[in-house]
Amino acid sequence: MELTLIEFVRLALAGSLTLVLLSALISRFFHARSKRQAMARRVICRLCLHAFEDSSHGSTVVCPACGATTARGRHRSLG
Ligand SMILES: [Zn+2]
Repeated sequence: MELTLIEFVRLALAGSLTLVLLSALISRFFHARSKRQAMARRVICRLCLHAFEDSSHGSTVVCPACGATTARGRHRSLG
């Protein structure tokens, strides 16, 4: 099989298009994953409704705004 210039250009175009689509999908996947992880770390204070991120592993966290102790993941069970 002999590759003509047109066929070569078409192949190059299709290859680059596939590459772009693939990288867009991959970056979207990683962005969604990091966003989900950030959401899992997010805590909303039950007293002052201050939203903050906490990466510690305790079951309760202390609000940096008002100092109240809030149970982790409580706001998620509310819907
Ligand atoms: Zn608070």
